[in-house]
Amino acid sequence: MRIHDELSNPAQAAHLIERGAASMHLSGLTLRDPAPKRERFEVIVIGGGQAGLSVGYHLARAGVRFTILDASERVGDSWRKRWDSLRLFTPAKLDGLDGMPFPAPRNSFPTKDEMADYLEAYAARFALPVRNGVRVERLFRRGARYAVKAGALELEAEQVVVAMASYQRPKVPAFAGELSGEIVQMHSNEYRNLAQLRPGGVVLAGAGNSGADIAMETARGGHATWLSGRGTGHVPFRPEGFFGRNLLAPFVLRLVFHRLLTVRTPLGRMARPNVLAKGAPLIRVKPRELAAARVERVPRVVGVRDGRPLLEDGRTLHAANVIWCSGFHPGFEWIDLPVFGNGGELLHRGGLVESQPGLYFVGLTFLYAMSSSMIHGVGRDAARIVKAITARR
Ligand SMILES: Cc1cc2nc3c(=O)[nH]c(=O)nc-3n(C[C@H](O)[C@H](O)[C@H](O)COP(=O)(O)OP(=O)(O)OC[C@H]3O[C@@H](n4cnc5c(N)ncnc54)[C@H](O)[C@@H]3O)c2cc1C
Repeated sequence: MRIHDELSNPAQAAHLIERGAASMHLSGLTLRDPAPKRERFEVIVIGGGQAGLSVGYHLARAGVRFTILDASERVGDSWRKRWDSLRLFTPAKLDGLDGMPFPAPRNSFPTKDEMADYLEAYAARFALPVRNGVRVERLFRRGARYAVKAGALELEAEQVVVAMASYQRPKVPAFAGELSGEIVQMHSNEYRNLAQLRPGGVVLAGAGNSGADIAMETARGGHATWLSGRGTGHVPFRPEGFFGRNLLAPFVLRLVFHRLLTVRTPLGRMARPNVLAKGAPLIRVKPRELAAARVERVPRVVGVRDGRPLLEDGRTLHAANVIWCSGFHPGFEWIDLPVFGNGGELLHRGGLVESQPGLYFVGLTFLYAMSSSMIHGVGRDAARIVKAITARR
């Protein structure tokens, strides 16, 4: 290949740049590369979990030139790193992304590792251009384009999709640091299994789905268990039972979460602030099951007294372990664009950021519907955002 061919072939030039060639030796001639190592795409997708892969699937079908950047080492890692006993609460028939059903009996409930492997297989099947191990440190404007910085890598694109759930940075209250050093404490995203705990009582600080699921495990493992915090309500039947199979999937998940509770319906607009503030109702674990397992419901942990967790009612708990199930931040500090309101909330309409044309979000809690952050809801949002992207091309 002659010099001219190499430099006029953008893919080849990008490849040389990506290899980190500060200077290129071509046909005996040394060319200094004065420009930073920049690559250009039509679209950059940030996040390569189910949201990013869904966007990628629809971009590929539309013939768009794009890349997907993901901080984790392997596709599916956000599932792989969750606690060992976790099973999905959604049946396999709702766990497939567009174009590839989940490979398991329709009414079975995959493990978190099966879900991780499914995502890896999905990326491979559609040859989605995911670059793992690339953490975006800054997203900003450069003229008419968006620029992304990730270590030594700099990429530019006309349009960018931030594709990830709101669960990126664990939320732990500042007073957690005052807990006695004898108490083992961790956030739910660090919890894997009972072997991490000390003998003695466990406080689950936060009574949403993670708190309730882990409380069942610690109570069954013989630990005195307190589940602390306000209830978020619950779906009144187990996903695995008769009503679960015949009502949860078709009625609650498909009809209520996907069709009725959206930003386009009065019901959805009414429910959205509550869901954003409080979280989703308990889906697998029921209050009577918690009671039967001797999980004690207690008020919120509001501070620390004498090194122990202090409850809203003034009691302190003699716990040996505290697991913070207190939720997550989206962790968008790396977005250097004026897209946040005074309270730090992202300003968007169904994932479209009107103040920054060409910037989109997919995967966030109640982005468009109650199902937006769930596997069966993310594909519709991805398709809608890709439609907006192609309309702008
Ligand atoms: C405990 C738990 C159980 C759940 N169970 C179910 C269930 O049964 N059914 C269901 O439908 N939903 C469930 N969900 C909700 C949802 O399906 C999952 O949270 C899912 O992982 C969301 O996928 P995502 O792609 O939107 O985000 P994530 O899985 O969080 O993926 C985002 C990706 O973006 C990457 N990333 C983040 N920041 C950057 C950056 N700056 N640069 C580059 N990459 C970055 C991360 O490394 C990650 O790989 C559950 C959630 C939790 C927390």
